[in-house]
Amino acid sequence: MATFKEFRNNVKPNWCPGCGDFSVQAAIQRAAANVGLEPEQLAVISGIGCSGRISGYINAYGLHGIHGRALPIAQGVKLANRDLTVIASGGDGDGFAIGMGHTIHAIRRNINITYIVMDNQIYGLTKGQTSPRSAEGFKTKSTPEGSIESALSPLELALSSGATFVAQSFSSDLKQLTSLIEEGIKHEGFSLINVFSPCVTFNKVNTYDWFKENITNLDTVEGYDSSNRIHAMTKLMETGGLLTGLIYQNKDRKSYEDLVPGFRKEPLAAQNPAITAEEFEKL
Ligand code: SF4
Ligand code: MG
Repeated sequence: MATFKEFRNNVKPNWCPGCGDFSVQAAIQRAAANVGLEPEQLAVISGIGCSGRISGYINAYGLHGIHGRALPIAQGVKLANRDLTVIASGGDGDGFAIGMGHTIHAIRRNINITYIVMDNQIYGLTKGQTSPRSAEGFKTKSTPEGSIESALSPLELALSSGATFVAQSFSSDLKQLTSLIEEGIKHEGFSLINVFSPCVTFNKVNTYDWFKENITNLDTVEGYDSSNRIHAMTKLMETGGLLTGLIYQNKDRKSYEDLVPGFRKEPLAAQNPAITAEEFEKL
């Protein structure tokens, strides 16, 4: 069985020292090993942004796609090969601005993949502009007088779009983050995991200390029922979305693949005895 070290490659990340994305990379590698995957059973598909580089830093199949389009590619990979565990990943700009249409419809569709968003409430790769997750009044080069627009609440949107797995974590909590990614991988449907992943270079407001002071960890909330969508929505609204843990899971709804009549579960070669595996490879 592969250890987390086998999900490492020899590419050195060029994230800034202290960037929250390092923890997400480590958590994916640990979670993949903990659920018993081998590197050739995992595909990591990413969009564009600092976080989008993550697919190049994990020893697995990977594709660094185009801006906001990690999800269409990841869903296609999964439908082409249901045996692969597929993780899509990117940043808040990638997934909640240019890619938002794909995000909402992927949630509705409920294909069995895991989507990990590294949410730093800013555009880091382009050197610090306001993102859809930036708070009202947030000052950057693109909003020098402070952002006028309200911040998007992606997890409330996910719940109202029929999400079957919604979780949130924080780069400083590697144990919780790893465990949520494991649960997301095991979930039979679309799992959304938003991660507060601080940008230490350009976001001087939403820092590690700021999150530590403001986050409510659901592991400490007594009586919380993650199978209750109303609980989930209420708790998100009460905390302004600053909530970590498993927020909602619906284990009853089947994945898209399981609901498509006649959708093949086995590779084509296994279904058609007239084609050998060797012949299939040549197709
Ligand atoms: Fe991370 Fe920000 Fe540096 Fe990008 S600019 S690598 S998000 S710290
Ligand atoms: Mg961002």
